Amino acid sequence: MERLAEKITQFVRKNEKKYCEISEKIWQYAELAFHEEKSAKALTDLLEQEGFRVTAGLAGIPTAFVAEYGLGKPKIGILGEYDALPSLSQKAGYNRREPLTPGGAGHGCGHNLLGVGAAAAAIAVKDYMRETRLPGTIAFYGCPAEENGSAKVYLSRDGVFEGLDGVFTWHPGSNNSIMGEHSLAAVSVVYRFHGRATHAAGQPHLGRSALDACELMNVGVNYLREHMIQEARIHYAYRDAGGGAPNVVQDHAALYYFIRSPKISQALELRERVDNCARGAALMTGTTAEILPVDGMCDYLPNRVLSGVLQQSFEATGAPEFNEIDRQIARSFQQDYPPAEVQSKVKAYGAKFGEEYVPMFSGKPLQDVVFPLRFPSTPLFGSTDVGDVSYVAPTAWLNAACYAIGTSGHSWQLAAQGGTSVGQKGMLAAARAIAHGAVTVLENPALLKEAGEEHQKTTGGVYVCAVPDDVKPHIEGDF
Ligand SMILES: [Zn+2]
Repeated sequence: MERLAEKITQFVRKNEKKYCEISEKIWQYAELAFHEEKSAKALTDLLEQEGFRVTAGLAGIPTAFVAEYGLGKPKIGILGEYDALPSLSQKAGYNRREPLTPGGAGHGCGHNLLGVGAAAAAIAVKDYMRETRLPGTIAFYGCPAEENGSAKVYLSRDGVFEGLDGVFTWHPGSNNSIMGEHSLAAVSVVYRFHGRATHAAGQPHLGRSALDACELMNVGVNYLREHMIQEARIHYAYRDAGGGAPNVVQDHAALYYFIRSPKISQALELRERVDNCARGAALMTGTTAEILPVDGMCDYLPNRVLSGVLQQSFEATGAPEFNEIDRQIARSFQQDYPPAEVQSKVKAYGAKFGEEYVPMFSGKPLQDVVFPLRFPSTPLFGSTDVGDVSYVAPTAWLNAACYAIGTSGHSWQLAAQGGTSVGQKGMLAAARAIAHGAVTVLENPALLKEAGEEHQKTTGGVYVCAVPDDVKPHIEGDF
């Protein structure tokens, strides 16, 4: 193993037990968006003990924080998350549905691993800087509410990430690779209709139905879908259907829309057309439409220079070191999915990374090599608040195998595996690779200069937050 990889591996290994314990604690806390008090404290306590300066509460979000070590430039940021998802509580390692807390939240996206793995990377960078007197700053950003609240958008809007020369992050997944795809930009809007209530049989002519307005708006948007670009997506849910009584004309009703496109400018243009469907529905029904922007996320821009560095670092420090016990755990979850579905995941690896990987992972429960770097032209059909950060500073993102191949995202099966050695080994592999990448660029500022030039070229040096200034983080779910 090369010298730096060996050094970083030692630094991570020294605290390995502690990292696994903290990830288990956060896994048990399973706190929802903006309410991650205990999880954030577990991480700030860890980072403070390791000599980081902690500033808690950023952009008006109490559970957001930054922990810094060192001084001046270059300055490298590492992003961590720690929020859970509703209703996905599940006992660790159980492959049959058995919630730890019935009806409770669970780490169905593995953010217990994400936060601790990223903090472990920052600590290893600090250990290296202290030992070698390497100048610069390493900053760990505690980013709440990734699942529902997009805290990084508000942190970006508030200038928290300004001045960073490079940013690294990761996400638990089923394979080991660097994220080369763009994600979709997204805006979310609530359309609230106000009408007039009456007896639906007695004085129907006096009623103006807000529920009718919602239905007509949805019909309009259904027709709009035929006339938008292929990569765009529009989804909706009812926030308020106006009540349960058919004999009352509903005077209030509301819809919640997600509008996605490859670029934020396209998402905002499409939003204008969806807004018009709401206005048209209001006109047709004699109601009024209140249009309330909730959130907005830029597309993720992978920085090719930093992604290349992270790829080499991942190859140098290696994939997760799974053993037979881990493979047994993973297999017990994988067998719950239809074999054809699992095989389609393996085929997708082949299409993206090379056909030689198909026989290598057919019938295997865990992925244990580092895939080559790819920058596919098709976007990732989802959105992330890392997108905004990638517009502010050059950003690279790593995926580490923490679950059986075939495991669905946001599932109790994923929550169950994230509380076991399988998830923890992925977490430690991510920590090693990110620390190695961060040290590599701190030692070679020319790479950061190159990454910065690329960033300037791809963004034009412009970051526009899609959330209007008067919209505050929705800490109490108040929309
Ligand atoms: Zn996630």
